[in-house]
Amino acid sequence: MYEEKIELLIDGKWRQASNGATRDLVNPATGEVLGKVPLSTDQDLAEATAAAKRGFAVWKNRTAQQRYEILMRAAALIEARKEAIGRLLTQENGKPLGEAVPEVQFAADATRWYAEEGKRVYGRIIPARMPNVRQMSLREPVGPVVAFAAWNFPASNVIRKISGALGAGCSIVVKPAEETPGTAVAMARCFQEAGLPDGVLNVVFGVPDHVSSTLVASPVFRKITLTGSTAVGKLLQKRAAETLKTSTMELGGHAPVIVHEDADLEHAVKTLVAAKFRNAGQVCTSPTRFFIHESLYERFAAGFVELASKLVVGNGLEAGTQMGPMIAERRLAVMEGFVEDAVSKGAKVALGGKRASGAGFFFQPTVLTQVPANARILSEEPFGPIAPLLSFKEFDEVIERANSLPYGLASFCFTRSVSLAAKTEAALDAGLVGVNHMAVSTPETPFGGVNESGFGSESGIEGLEAFMRTKFVTEFAL
Ligand code: NAD
Repeated sequence: MYEEKIELLIDGKWRQASNGATRDLVNPATGEVLGKVPLSTDQDLAEATAAAKRGFAVWKNRTAQQRYEILMRAAALIEARKEAIGRLLTQENGKPLGEAVPEVQFAADATRWYAEEGKRVYGRIIPARMPNVRQMSLREPVGPVVAFAAWNFPASNVIRKISGALGAGCSIVVKPAEETPGTAVAMARCFQEAGLPDGVLNVVFGVPDHVSSTLVASPVFRKITLTGSTAVGKLLQKRAAETLKTSTMELGGHAPVIVHEDADLEHAVKTLVAAKFRNAGQVCTSPTRFFIHESLYERFAAGFVELASKLVVGNGLEAGTQMGPMIAERRLAVMEGFVEDAVSKGAKVALGGKRASGAGFFFQPTVLTQVPANARILSEEPFGPIAPLLSFKEFDEVIERANSLPYGLASFCFTRSVSLAAKTEAALDAGLVGVNHMAVSTPETPFGGVNESGFGSESGIEGLEAFMRTKFVTEFAL
């Protein structure tokens, strides 16, 4: 059923940890153990580091065309296997196959994007002040990269790091989440089969804090990239400062969505129910603070509850499932805590509010109304299937509330007015703004947050830039 053997990839060899240590891989929809995840030792991490150093020396000297050919072959393999990889993804993460398979397709598309863009890494010639001097600004790969990726998008979080680094000419050691290792292993096999030289891509698992403290401390790595929580981001950023590594931090969010008075209500309700409960709300761009204009509030809440109550919750492998489980049992208690806290302060549960009975880590699609400003869910990232509905009167007031948290990842608004859209886009303090839709992540477009949601972008030309550095060369012709 679960058709992947979880192994470490170090210097082109697939293997277990040197001391045989493992942890269980659990299917969150059933609680059953799917397999064992090897936990890297110091020796394994030292070998991965040495491999990445050697791999960089090889890969940076390949031409952009040679790198392109290997990445395009890897993309084709990922695409050809997307149904099988999607099944692994659903079993380890819980999201429905209808979300998992397109995510693997995204991985193939993103790999092609970086393969192509790698051929367009241009420098520039800068006119000199002296005769016979030629001045050049050149772009080169930054060096070996160490990457950490979260479990909520087991394919796309990992691929944006692997393909971005490889497209730029860097080698990489990536630690995908131990909760969702098989998707990354299956994709890494595609790169190896595509002809990637040994040591260019290394995949490790382990005890997260052990792996990150060991690898980030190594002077071999020149760049660190993380998709994870703000708390982990701050920790790794401090560690990266010791060796002055550059970094890209894709961290948590708490996305406001503003439904203006002139919004297409039916469209807003339909779009937002789909977005809120996607991956059971475990999405860093998930709408988490719903600001509804007071004139629409009652109708919006009624429509939202009605549509959300029809969601089919269950095992993502079953046809028709629209929402799967949370990643781990401990997250259910966190959701209960958010609901209890809000209710104790005056909120009403309009839908759900409880964990589901039976096997697996399921929490009901939940809608809270009349949520008071001091409820914890309005300031802490919920990362789950809970929608707190709030109302507002005035533009300035709602912008102030929307911008009141330290986060700044995604933000959304719904309106029929082009000028109101433009005014809202300009006022929102966030790295991403979606107007009347939620598609803020594509291979071609920059993705990233500001403030405590992190810095730097993945995808788009910015995503390749993140793995490059500048070299200035000046030549005097004798
Ligand atoms: P968690 O912080 O325990 O773990 C989240 C991930 O970070 C895990 O995959 C873990 O392996 C990794 N991690 C933890 N400590 C680390 C360390 N010292 N070094 C390197 N990696 C480390 O949280 P959780 O309970 O699994 O998930 C819930 C929280 O995680 C949410 O509040 C959310 O903010 C955050 N999260 C964010 C994203 C995102 O896309 N921004 C994705 C997943 C989780």
